[in-house]
Amino acid sequence: MSELWTSEEIAQATGGVASAPFAVSGVAFDSREVTGGDLFVAMKGETTDGHNFVEKAFGQGAAGSIVSEAIPQPHILVKDSVVALEALGRASRARMRGKVVGVTGSVGKTGTKEALFQALDRVCPGEVHRSVKSYNNHVGVPLSLSRMPRASAFGVFEMGMNHAGELAQLTQQVRPHVAIVTAIAPAHIEFFGTEEKIAEAKAEIFEGLEPDGTAIIPYDSPHVATLYAKAEQHAARILTFGFDEEADVRARDMVPAANGGTLVTATLPSAELCFTVSAPGEHWVSNALAVLAAVEALGGDLAAAGLALAEMPGLPGRGERKTLPIAGGEALLIDESYNANPLSMAATLKQLGKERASRRIAVLGGMRELGDRSRELHAGLVEPLAAGQVDYAILVGEEMKPLAEALGGVLSFDHVPDAAAAISLIQTEMRAGDAILVKGSNGIGLSRLVAALGEHK
Ligand code: ATP
Ligand code: MG
Repeated sequence: MSELWTSEEIAQATGGVASAPFAVSGVAFDSREVTGGDLFVAMKGETTDGHNFVEKAFGQGAAGSIVSEAIPQPHILVKDSVVALEALGRASRARMRGKVVGVTGSVGKTGTKEALFQALDRVCPGEVHRSVKSYNNHVGVPLSLSRMPRASAFGVFEMGMNHAGELAQLTQQVRPHVAIVTAIAPAHIEFFGTEEKIAEAKAEIFEGLEPDGTAIIPYDSPHVATLYAKAEQHAARILTFGFDEEADVRARDMVPAANGGTLVTATLPSAELCFTVSAPGEHWVSNALAVLAAVEALGGDLAAAGLALAEMPGLPGRGERKTLPIAGGEALLIDESYNANPLSMAATLKQLGKERASRRIAVLGGMRELGDRSRELHAGLVEPLAAGQVDYAILVGEEMKPLAEALGGVLSFDHVPDAAAAISLIQTEMRAGDAILVKGSNGIGLSRLVAALGEHK
């Protein structure tokens, strides 16, 4: 196991006091994630106190800890563990000599981060560090930074926010050479009021750019001007990506690929590139263009990036495709149960419209965190449902009421109270030849429906 931090380095970075010398090979603040050799950071949250899990963490092999109350086990004593983790993240960033990329946006952060990781790792295997899962907030980002091996050639970090000012802080920790905004959509709009304010808050990522840094922004977004104006203040270079012919990195031509994905011909400032994006849908092409823009900015290997995009494994709950054996043949299940907002609903329904199927079924759960625009934005799904040529919809939960009302006689649908009711309904409704899209905010629990259909014979 390779050494990540020594107790002296941690003490120096955090201003804490070491109880004994130790070395760690990883960092975790969730005791369930602790593995042998880790540094356990005991944090006091609103409902839990990490200090109660110190025994458990050491039982699982922790080699040291950061605590704000002294314990018998090896530790660094600090005033505030969250502040200490941030300091450790900053120290990690400061000692790293490679290039760093920050990825934000209302949708597509994890997908873009994972694809960029694959693209870079193909050329520098084992030398690319990335955030795991969606660890993108005020503790997830410093945690991901602190886990970065000092010799990394590249670091790729997902950065999220649901309030103005959050990204401004995170970007000063990450100090990216390349900062990507994937897309702007009314996600978390209840905290912002307008989409324009969301764009302004996302643009904060550019404030932390290194002096020679590149800003990567979505050309087709209605908010491109806002993003561009902010990027101009902080970036040495700006690369736009999209489908418009004015975009610096643009998809000129797209045709369906044999593997269900898309064969894309793209123009970049330094090359023309033909590549396949394994994940189906234009929205994944958009993310792929952002990835290529980042590789271009880093001076990386575009051809290798193209190959990586063709082999991207599906991400759980984000467009994963499953074939369900069923009487008389099989049905296609598109698992989008991980999250939903108006932009991603529109993108995935558009893709459903392109699937070859005898019937297109949409099982849609509510979109959360839309505040007082919730009614209007749910009702607004009438158009995307039509664009997706949906034959039958199952609308799940209270949030879907406005859509049920708006749909009237336009489309055959059922409105059910929860995921459990949707499970029994889809199990009786589904037939061979159907393409079924399952999408909703995670809290609606549609992943249970996906799991149940997987067991359906
Ligand atoms: P979170 O804020 O939950 O971490 P995220 O920004 O990391 O989300 P992903 O997990 O990458 O987003 O993707 C979530 C969903 O958003 C996907 O399943 C897909 O439906 C949709 N999506 C991804 N990229 C785009 C895009 N560029 N445009 C529209 N929709 C997209
Ligand atoms: Mg994410």
